[in-house]
Amino acid sequence: MNSSANDQPQYDVVVIGAGFAGLYALHRFRELGFSAAGIEKGGDVGGVWYWNRYPGARCDCESYYYSYSFSQELQRDWRWSLRYSEQPEILRYLNHVADRFDLRPHIRFSTTLRAAHFDETSGTWTLSFDHGPPLTARYLVSAMGCLSEIKTPDIAGLDDFRGEILHTAAWPHDGAALNGKRVGIIGTGASGVQVISRIASQVGELTVFQRTANWVIPVWNGPMAEEFQDWVQAHYAAIRQRCFTSTGGVPFPSPEHAALDLPEAQRTAILEEFWAKGGIRFFSAFSDIFTRHEANEVVCAFVRDYIRRTVRNPAVAEMLIPKDHHIGTKRPPMDDDYYKVFNRQNVRLVDLRAEPIVGFTSDSLITSSGAYGLDTLILATGFDALTGALLAVDICGRGGLSLREVWANGARSLLGLAVAGFPNLFLITGPLSPSVLANMPTAIEQHVNWIADCLQELRARGARMIEPLAGPQEDWTRHVADVAEATLYRDSRSWYFGSNVPGKPRQFGVYVGGFGNYADKCRQVAASNYDGFTID
Ligand code: NAP
Repeated sequence: MNSSANDQPQYDVVVIGAGFAGLYALHRFRELGFSAAGIEKGGDVGGVWYWNRYPGARCDCESYYYSYSFSQELQRDWRWSLRYSEQPEILRYLNHVADRFDLRPHIRFSTTLRAAHFDETSGTWTLSFDHGPPLTARYLVSAMGCLSEIKTPDIAGLDDFRGEILHTAAWPHDGAALNGKRVGIIGTGASGVQVISRIASQVGELTVFQRTANWVIPVWNGPMAEEFQDWVQAHYAAIRQRCFTSTGGVPFPSPEHAALDLPEAQRTAILEEFWAKGGIRFFSAFSDIFTRHEANEVVCAFVRDYIRRTVRNPAVAEMLIPKDHHIGTKRPPMDDDYYKVFNRQNVRLVDLRAEPIVGFTSDSLITSSGAYGLDTLILATGFDALTGALLAVDICGRGGLSLREVWANGARSLLGLAVAGFPNLFLITGPLSPSVLANMPTAIEQHVNWIADCLQELRARGARMIEPLAGPQEDWTRHVADVAEATLYRDSRSWYFGSNVPGKPRQFGVYVGGFGNYADKCRQVAASNYDGFTID
């Protein structure tokens, strides 16, 4: 740490967040000789894996690729117990990374960034927090995450409920006593589905309040067999290489067939084959799932049939079948037991479209059709995704320009990495990058490596500032929208569009042109003297 005399900032870089992104960024920048500090709202490292401790929390990507690739030794030494690891194991992994690379002493925990203001004269950021002294830094790097700003649901009369209220993304660290209780849950996205499956056999009664049904895909989770671990270790270089070049940042081949080119029998055979692979691989069955209604419908029909075969009560099965969106165009939850849970005697499904919530009493949720007695209410109601964490901070760039104002009608960024008017600010997996539609650790490493190369280049040139130009930023912002418009995503209402947050401008916040293509584009920008950026 330098003294803050004159215009010398205290740090070269301050990284906000100590999850997957923040830990690697801090490590990488320090390794390159930059003075770097981390700021973390949570009491320890882990990011989403620190906060989302709800029962059943698990990653929907397989751990052998949902993990860091930057250290061969780390990769060699760490063994996963399950193919799709659960939250405690992923959190242990991130703690191990923090210790192994000695990152903890450089992070200020339990500290929330309130404001970040750029000073044009010194070319530095001044950061202030909910407590503790402010900091100055040449570069500010957001590793705040895409799904970290909890969306408080606006549910009529919730304050009248006197039972326990839990949010999946702020789960008590010492757990919640649910055994034998009457538990209600609002929300059937990825978080809700996992909780429901895990607690159904443990609670006395479980009432699932569903507003919108989701397509839920099995992952066929199980132990990470020794032979598979050995195979992965032997092939890691190729696996990682594939992740960095593939469409989704995952080590699987692209689809070989378009559904609409195949006869029905062959389509069904392929669907069965990919259903057996499970998880996100199911969506690689056909190349036209995300672009052609008819192809998507082939897949919907297959899953509809599975739901009807699995759920014994036909009326409940019909309620669980989505009617409002193409499969995959809202983030599909993934779980092996979800539909079976609705065959249990102690589980009931309430359709909030048919009977909306009208209020609460001290011990019940009241819908237009009746009262449901509850001891505990779980909110699995999601996040102000993609932009929420950034806009929760008062970020001001050149001339006091506020990010909240600049993004009032939707996010603008160049490559999701930086924003015009906000020099020396970098966003890891920021809005308009592939982020949540790529394998996150791969997307994170690609961004951190790009930023690290950029910082080295600026250091080598003796430059003080880098910032996107407005024209290229507008081109990229439009391109991201155009690419999404050419897919079936355009028809959905989801947090990808900000539709879950009242008043949020409708904008598809993710680049869906393919992670490998995107990484190439980032490389080209760097290779062409940071084309699209201005360097001072
Ligand atoms: P989400 O997908 O946004 O789901 C929120 C749920 O709450 C939806 O079912 C929504 O219904 C419902 N809801 C919200 N407000 C409501 C209200 N006022 N009344 C009734 N229902 C309401 O949130 P999430 O499940 O936390 O997941 C967010 C994302 O986090 C996921 O899509 C995924 O990317 C990530 N995640 C990943 C994993 C994993 O890897 N395993 C696990 C959990 C989360 P509507 O659909 O009708 O709005």
